[in-house]
Amino acid sequence: MASHLAKADPSTSVLPSPQFSSVDLRSISDKGSRLLRATSSRSSGLIPFTDRCSSGHSHTTGLRLPQGLPIGDPQQRAAETQAHSEGFDEEEYRDSRLSPVPKIRDRMEPPAGPGNESARAPSQQDDGASVASVGGVADDRSAEASRYSQRLLNEGHERWEGDRCPICFLFVGLPVGEHARVNGCCMKTVCKGCALAAKQRGIYDRCPFCRTPHPADDASKLVMIQKRVGKRDAEAFNNLAVQYFCGKLGLTKDVPRAIELWTDAAELGSLDAHHQLGVSYFYGYGVEEDKLRGIRHWQEAAMKGHALCRHMVGDVEYDNGNYELAVQHYMITAKMGYEKSLDAIKDLFMKGLATKAQYAEALRGFGDAVEEMKSHQREEAKRLGV
Ligand SMILES: [Zn+2]
Ligand SMILES: [Zn+2]
Repeated sequence: MASHLAKADPSTSVLPSPQFSSVDLRSISDKGSRLLRATSSRSSGLIPFTDRCSSGHSHTTGLRLPQGLPIGDPQQRAAETQAHSEGFDEEEYRDSRLSPVPKIRDRMEPPAGPGNESARAPSQQDDGASVASVGGVADDRSAEASRYSQRLLNEGHERWEGDRCPICFLFVGLPVGEHARVNGCCMKTVCKGCALAAKQRGIYDRCPFCRTPHPADDASKLVMIQKRVGKRDAEAFNNLAVQYFCGKLGLTKDVPRAIELWTDAAELGSLDAHHQLGVSYFYGYGVEEDKLRGIRHWQEAAMKGHALCRHMVGDVEYDNGNYELAVQHYMITAKMGYEKSLDAIKDLFMKGLATKAQYAEALRGFGDAVEEMKSHQREEAKRLGV
């Protein structure tokens, strides 16, 4: 059975590059091995991450992940941004605009969970510890792991509110990067239907949500993001991380800085940042590889309704040969309207690893979710290729 979590090639992968939009490291799966696939990739081998940029455009960056592993929407998003460094002083940026950013990354520990030794379990035993007490610790760990696994399956069935368009209030289609864009002014994820409606009303040069005029150049875009970072906007941290990760908007590529910012963003509540960190740690992008820590990031976001992270958790179970568990995770995201998860269940069904009833349930749930996300404006946007 091909692995869903193919090994990514650090040299070619691009982590998330959210420009102005959230990073969707959304899926990676593919060909022989389905993994996480990049959210917006349309072309075959590229893991395109679509970015919702501040200019209101969706950019696709092609970061190729060797075996189809998408790793980061953020990168792609970032990659999409046109980098202009004219007149931009990175040091000045760091000193004057990011100074208010607290170093919370140091407090960021891998979420506690089964198998995560560093997050719990005493590492030292009393010299006189008896075999019985060791056995008790093992039982406690096992019970804790079991509770965590149950929580993972029970929580996060409803999508994260951050994926809801603030204008029409409908959830944005998945992957979000293909159906919406984010403007740096307010960091809101506005669906393409509402963006089109705004243009039809003559609103071309400003944000359809907050009406702030679009920045004229990259330096202005960066200032806009920094301003939001100064207000401790989680998605602004996330987007700025993408800029550093991809070296856009005049910034020198700085992956460690991107990891720091994603960590801060995750602390502040960005689930997309968890997605990116999951990819970074799982594949060792910019940090020492730590698969368990990467998985924990995906699990934490999955329990809060992040579809792509949930799908990744399903891929992990798939690769571990836990097909029934994988189906349960894919089922949740199929019902959120994520087609890749539906495809994964179909694939498992075709291989005799999922039941016909499960596939039928996934089909119905997916269809219902897609129907709920439809609107006249969105259909019009799709028809016009917006
Ligand atoms: Zn909308
Ligand atoms: Zn705005």
